Amino acid sequence: MRCAPGRCRSWASGWSVWRLPRGLRCYVVAVILTAAGAAITAASLTRWHARDALLFAILVCFGAAAVELTRRTAEPAGLIKEVHGIWQLPIALLLPPVYCLAAPVVTFSLLQLRTRQTVAHRRVFSAAANGLSLGAASVAFHLLRSRLPWLWPGAGTQALMWLLAAAGCALLWSLINKTLVMTAVKTADRTVSVREQLLAREPLLNDLCEICAALLLAGAAGVSWALILPALPLVIVLQRSLRHAQLLSQARLDAKTGLLNAAAWRTEAAVQLAHAQRTGAPLAVAIADLDRFKAVNDTYGHLVGDAVLAAAADTLRRGLRPYDLIGRFGGEEFTILLPHTEPAEAVQVAERLRHNLAAVPVLSGLAGQGDHPLRVTVSIGVAALQPGRRDLTDLLAAADAALYEAKNAGRNSVRLTSDEPRAPIA
Ligand code: GH3
Ligand code: MG
Ligand code: MG
Repeated sequence: MRCAPGRCRSWASGWSVWRLPRGLRCYVVAVILTAAGAAITAASLTRWHARDALLFAILVCFGAAAVELTRRTAEPAGLIKEVHGIWQLPIALLLPPVYCLAAPVVTFSLLQLRTRQTVAHRRVFSAAANGLSLGAASVAFHLLRSRLPWLWPGAGTQALMWLLAAAGCALLWSLINKTLVMTAVKTADRTVSVREQLLAREPLLNDLCEICAALLLAGAAGVSWALILPALPLVIVLQRSLRHAQLLSQARLDAKTGLLNAAAWRTEAAVQLAHAQRTGAPLAVAIADLDRFKAVNDTYGHLVGDAVLAAAADTLRRGLRPYDLIGRFGGEEFTILLPHTEPAEAVQVAERLRHNLAAVPVLSGLAGQGDHPLRVTVSIGVAALQPGRRDLTDLLAAADAALYEAKNAGRNSVRLTSDEPRAPIA
């Protein structure tokens, strides 16, 4: 079926990719076109065999079955760990490169249609990045095999050499894929931490699990295709267990702001407080409350209010030291624990947060705002650990009283509890 040229143009002009910022758009389109070019080149160089096509179909079908069987527990949002590589890496190692450029197209189409709909360019970009990285690993592995034709899963030294070569190519796949994806993520949002997303213990362990399972499956399938069958339940359990670990860590966080939720903040703050009481180290607690936030909701609506809340939380978090603890207390209020901090220094930290928020616009380009960016201010009450304040509830009550004073003083201000000895601020 063909569409009239005008209609085709208006159909393509609605694609979400054109709405991306220029740099990101160019990068995403370049990766997608490179993958398409690589697929066409690989297809023209491939010697086609029915046996290869059959193994490809088997692995893709198993991958599709895994997507289908885990779709209720998979993909909530954001950067998440999936284990599609377990099916894709054997394709890269056992079949010509053209097949692994095609395999992610099937997986990501299924994810889009059956698991979660998201903007199409993200799926296409992920498929292209994955295809390119698998293709590079496949080419590297096949080059090695053309020099060492005996490199095939077998027994003894041969199996060890195969494993080493396959593991090297798996690492190459992971490295290229992560570089391609993180370049896009960092271009879209400079505040995303590569270290947290990829290099922390948990994501590294997850990647290692995925690669090991993929190597086992590739080795088994190289010996006998029948051995692919028992891999399916194992992959499903692995996918679910990774998801479970992710849910546990999400249960500590407030969904709107990404900060610790009230219960998690209390638990972690209680540990820090007990440590300070044991060692006699100074410690302070602050409560920050956005000023006249109801007016933001009333003027721009609750959705904009939510975005402002998230941006304000982010600004507050970035103004803290790595060992400070910030959580969302509820509504537009945040609790902050400042370990190893004397009262005067706590006031300095709170002043810095107040200043940061007032100085930086939280949102710009709002309807009805013209070019005027939206700013919000915050009032902060601070209380320090003292002999009379024995637990977190006492400290929070004292900080709340100081917050009340800050509000009464006209807002956009910081107050230390009035019974605190006021050391001069350097
Ligand atoms: P004040 O300077 O005295 O703190 O004034 P305020 O308007 O910030 O304080 P008030 O307690 O009267 O109102 C807080 C508002 O915060 C009310 C509520 O609409 C809004 N709010 C609380 N939680 C959320 C949320 O999760 N999202 C949005 N959009 N608004 C919220
Ligand atoms: Mg408020
Ligand atoms: Mg409030």
